[in-house]
Amino acid sequence: MRIARFTTGEDPRFGVIESGPDGHEVLSVIVGDPLYTPVQFTGERVPLDDVRLLAPVIPRSKVLGVGRNYADHAAEMGNEVPPEPLIFLRPNTSVIGPGDPIVLPAGSDEVHYEGELAVVIGRLCRDVPADRVGEVILGYTCANDVTARDWQRGDGQWWRAKGFDASCPLGPYLVTGLGLDDVADLALTTRRDGEVVQSARTAQMVYDVTRIVVHVSSAMTLLPGDVILTGTPAGVGPITAGQRVEVEVEGLGVLSNPVVRR
Ligand code: MG
Repeated sequence: MRIARFTTGEDPRFGVIESGPDGHEVLSVIVGDPLYTPVQFTGERVPLDDVRLLAPVIPRSKVLGVGRNYADHAAEMGNEVPPEPLIFLRPNTSVIGPGDPIVLPAGSDEVHYEGELAVVIGRLCRDVPADRVGEVILGYTCANDVTARDWQRGDGQWWRAKGFDASCPLGPYLVTGLGLDDVADLALTTRRDGEVVQSARTAQMVYDVTRIVVHVSSAMTLLPGDVILTGTPAGVGPITAGQRVEVEVEGLGVLSNPVVRR
């Protein structure tokens, strides 16, 4: 199921994307927030063209990211593959939705896109064993783990390199009903102004989704709506104001964002 968070100018609502009678897609509006309420239709249907899609989830507590999780990306940055998952945190204030501008921060001159598969946690959990990871995942979406490289190199912590406002596009919608096997070998493509700059498969991850969830939940409680960014493949590069970045994960849609300068 493809679940979108959207607005028609009022408070955000959720809907399931379906094919309409004329070939145009429609949103079948659902009651409440699918993080907390089983999907139940209100009966209202809204043309997809008439809404603005929002980030499919605003994490209540955290976005976690995995660094250097594709060997070819670790190598292009001059790094070794870490001996266990390299985890960082992003604030939820960095999250934006599809179509929202990535805002280059004043004081950084080297901001990169990073196309990634994102995992959305569906239930409170801690110390999740490997054979139960599928039970705690609500769904998947595309992410752009936008990073200020100069700050990443210069600061001891990555708090602003990966934490500045509008640096974490998520979307365009949440895809539920997928098992871990379904996301184990998906095509991941990033385009900058239409040119393919990253092209890889999720099978190339050093640590797969199961291993990542086991690792992070061994130290932290995960809450519904927490998001885990699973790392970027080779091909990262700079973005400048006026450009547009698209991240596409096979079956999860295209996350497209313009770039502006603050
Ligand atoms: Mg990343």
